[in-house]
Amino acid sequence: MNGSESRFDRQRLLPWIGEQGQRRLRESHALVVGCGALGSAQAELLVRAGVGTLTIVDRDLVEWSNLQRQSLFDERDARAGAPKAEAAKRRLREIDSSVRIHACVEHLGPENAAELARGAGVIVDGLDNMPSRYLLNDLAVRDGVPFVHAAVVAMEGRSLAVLPGRPCLRCVHPEAPAPGALPTCDTVGVFGGAVAIVAGFAATQAIRVLAGRGDLASRGLWSLDLDAARAITIGADAAPSPECVCCAKRRFEWLDGDQMEQATVLCGRRAVQIVPRSAAGGSRRGAAVDFAALRSRLASHGRFEERDGILRGEVDMAVADTGAALELALFPDGRAIVSGTVDAALARSVYDRIVGL
Ligand SMILES: [Zn+2]
Repeated sequence: MNGSESRFDRQRLLPWIGEQGQRRLRESHALVVGCGALGSAQAELLVRAGVGTLTIVDRDLVEWSNLQRQSLFDERDARAGAPKAEAAKRRLREIDSSVRIHACVEHLGPENAAELARGAGVIVDGLDNMPSRYLLNDLAVRDGVPFVHAAVVAMEGRSLAVLPGRPCLRCVHPEAPAPGALPTCDTVGVFGGAVAIVAGFAATQAIRVLAGRGDLASRGLWSLDLDAARAITIGADAAPSPECVCCAKRRFEWLDGDQMEQATVLCGRRAVQIVPRSAAGGSRRGAAVDFAALRSRLASHGRFEERDGILRGEVDMAVADTGAALELALFPDGRAIVSGTVDAALARSVYDRIVGL
């Protein structure tokens, strides 16, 4: 252990942690997927609590607009456009140099999810889109690994601890929303105080699991409305749904890859096509994009207009390699073409942030 033995004194006094819980935390491994605002705050809480090994997965680079709420990053990271996972690792090692930290600068997908989660005692949600959350939920249920879901937008947030024998994310939200149906942080904003509260709540559940007290992890969907100064829990006594495709029927549609959006680099031009499963004729077929609602949300984000039944606009986000602007063309079925890049992961990131799922 690095430094003085007193580092965890105040935490060991908590009855549910004690000597034994602290030892278990040091032997534990947490996987944080997504290192934006929620991921940053949760990763820091896990490291400060004494988790021994942390794996951080994030595909994005630090931007100036992140600094308002993404607590592990500073101006140096934004200026350099540093990969978030690497910048987070650097900062976390300054906080506790004895923690083993693996930084993975990659896109989470069905092909790498199980490998990234190898050895993890808990999976922590720092994501910004529902398909990737469903993917983690599939993995967690299939392999019996606890998963702590967290989400925040504007002044609201929620969290759900998915543990074996309890309702999973698809018990609570059975199907993904239509593309563009949900607000995202890029369309309606997000407040740092709401992030801190939700991250604190979710990290507590993860730490309880890792300390061997998963029995104390909160039950039901916890939901915060910071504008109303209120948090409620829904379904604390609920059992897993017998109709749930994931935990009851054990069909792992997102992990098996047949629900995930597809990204294809278009030949002969700097563009990537994103095809959500709903547009490809999947189980969510028919969920059309509400252009009017989406356009009003995007007003603060760039100049978007509807022409020939296609919503087009320039995205307020530069590409690191060229500094060129990105353009998004969105079709009514949710399909999109992101022009100005051949980086499929970047195009996916733009789609998730601007359109959202
Ligand atoms: Zn379920």
